[in-house]
Amino acid sequence: MLVVMNKQATPEEIDAVLAAIEGKGYAARPIPGGERVAIGVLHNKGAVDASHFLGLSGVQDVIPVTRPYKLVSREFQPEDTIVQVGDVLIGGGNLTLIAGPCAVESEAQCLKIAQIVQRAGAHLFRGGAFKPRTSPYSFHGLGEEGLKILALVRETTGMPVITEALDTDTFGLVEEYTDVIQIGARNMQNFSLLRRAGRSHKPVFVKRGLAATIDEWLMAAEYVMEGGNTQVILCERGVRTFAHHSRNTLDLSAVPVVCKESHLPVIVDPSHAAGRRDQVIPLSRASVAVGAHGLMVEVHHNPEEALSDGAQSLYPEQFETLCREIQAIFDVFHPPHPVQ
Ligand code: PEP
Ligand code: MN
Repeated sequence: MLVVMNKQATPEEIDAVLAAIEGKGYAARPIPGGERVAIGVLHNKGAVDASHFLGLSGVQDVIPVTRPYKLVSREFQPEDTIVQVGDVLIGGGNLTLIAGPCAVESEAQCLKIAQIVQRAGAHLFRGGAFKPRTSPYSFHGLGEEGLKILALVRETTGMPVITEALDTDTFGLVEEYTDVIQIGARNMQNFSLLRRAGRSHKPVFVKRGLAATIDEWLMAAEYVMEGGNTQVILCERGVRTFAHHSRNTLDLSAVPVVCKESHLPVIVDPSHAAGRRDQVIPLSRASVAVGAHGLMVEVHHNPEEALSDGAQSLYPEQFETLCREIQAIFDVFHPPHPVQ
C-alpha cells in the first residue's frame, strides 16, 4: 500500500503518518518524488486497512499496490530513477555505454581497451576480477590484483568502473575498489548476496538470471532496495531457450515491459545474450530502439587471445561503429529540444 501525501504536507504531518504506519506493526518507507512525498507500507502479511491512514492530516490518498514487488514498481515511484556514477547518469533520458573486456587479464590489456572504448564513446569501463565460470578448470579472474587494475583504469582515464561481486566473502573487497557492483546472472537469486548489496552505498547492477521471469528479476532488485539501497540498475542479458543459433535468447520484449513496470534504469547486454560477435551490433541497435537506457558490451583488442568470451568480444573498430549507430537510433526517439 502507498500513502500519498498532499503537496503541502508538512514534515510533522509526514512524521505522524510514519508513526501511525509503524504503530500498526508495518514498516514505513518514505519515497521522495518530484511532485509529492509518498510513503510505502511494507512487511504487511495481508491487506492493509486504508481507513487507518485516510483520515490523517496531510494524507491525499491511499493506493493499494497490486504487484508483488513494491519499491521497484512505478506504482511506488512514477518518476524514473537516475543513477549517478561520477559524472555519468544512468536512466531517464540518458544513453549510457558500458564497455570493456570480459575479464581483467593484465594492466596493459585493460589500459589499452579502456583507451579504445573511451575514445569511441563509452562512459563506464567493465571487466571481471572474480569470474563465474562453468568449468572449474577455466580462468577465474585475477581477484584483488584485478580490482587494483580497475582502480588504475579509473585513475588513468577518469571512467568509473563496474565489476562483479561473486559472493558475500569478497563483496566488501569488490565494494572498496569499484564504482558499480555487478550481481551476475548466476547469482540473481543468491538472496544473501542481494541483501549484502542492499546494505552497500554503491550502485548495484542486477543481471537477469539465466531462466528468470521478469517478476523474479524485479523481486531480486526488490531485495536490494528493501535493504535501503535505492541505486539499482537492471540488466537484460538473454535467457536460456531451445535456440542454438545464439548462446542465449535476448528478450527484447522484456525491455518495454520492465520500463513500464519499474522506474529503474534498464541496460541491455547483447554480448552475453548472443555469445558471438556477429549478432552484437544488430542486437545493440534493436535494444536502443526498444527503449533500453544503455548497453553493456564486451570489447577486446585481441579477442583471439582473450582468456574468456573472446568469441563474443567486439573488435575495436566494430565498437566504434556500434557507438555511432546506436547514438543515431537513440536520437530518433530523443530528439534534442528545439531552441526557442
Ligand atoms: C559478465 O558480465 O561478466 C557475466 C559473467 O555476465 P552474466 O552474469 O550475464 O553471464
Ligand atoms: Mn563475459
